Amino acid sequence: MTKLLVLALLLPSAAALAQAANPPPNPLPRPELTEVWSPVPPKVTPGATIGQPPSDAILLFDGKDLSGWESVKGGPAPWTVRDGALLIPPKSGAIQTREKFGDVQLHVEWMVPMLPPDRKGQDRGNSGIFLQGLYEVQVLDTLDNPTYVNGQAGSIYKQYAPLVNAQRPAPQWQSYDIVYMAPRFYGDGSLAEPARMTIFLNGVLVQNNVPLRGPTEYRGIPLYKAHGDGPIQLQDHNNPVQYRNIWLRKL
Ligand code: MG
Repeated sequence: MTKLLVLALLLPSAAALAQAANPPPNPLPRPELTEVWSPVPPKVTPGATIGQPPSDAILLFDGKDLSGWESVKGGPAPWTVRDGALLIPPKSGAIQTREKFGDVQLHVEWMVPMLPPDRKGQDRGNSGIFLQGLYEVQVLDTLDNPTYVNGQAGSIYKQYAPLVNAQRPAPQWQSYDIVYMAPRFYGDGSLAEPARMTIFLNGVLVQNNVPLRGPTEYRGIPLYKAHGDGPIQLQDHNNPVQYRNIWLRKL
């Protein structure tokens, strides 16, 4: 009797057999399982027009003063402020922000004045924006000015040519919007992750999340060296370039 009972318990019931032959459809997971409710992204009021700083931006140059900047050689920034723009006096040297930064979203507007036709190639409105003082986004009048393509406007100098030439004719104002991710280093100083940049020139994508090969080099192959936060630098290349409306957001 006991053996029969055990056997009956071990055998699947008629209902279980029917279910195995014809299983119910797998129910879809509840939609709430893939909803994320926190943390809530903070509200940021965008600028009234494109290019105007949003509410959480750090203003690096608002057209008035250079108090947040210094000469790369030390001392106050020797550039000139006129009519809301920043002018580079000849051979005054590069300037940089006093504050140092890592990952940023950076907005910069720049303008190359009308220059005589004998100013050609890399000598036609050359300047540059260095992220962390090391990685140059080229500034140059290259709408109709042939030069090496990894040295034209929109390039990451000597590393990446721009995807397209989205320059406006000089002497119009141009804008860069740059997303910069700083390189990461291991404790022993070796590279963990390269720097990355995404760049819009006049609102047009010219660099799409490219990995940098190292700091900008005029000659030779770039090589990473471990570093921490660094300043935003503007290059003096002995060319009369102007800047205005410079702001960034820390990422
Ligand atoms: Mg340059």
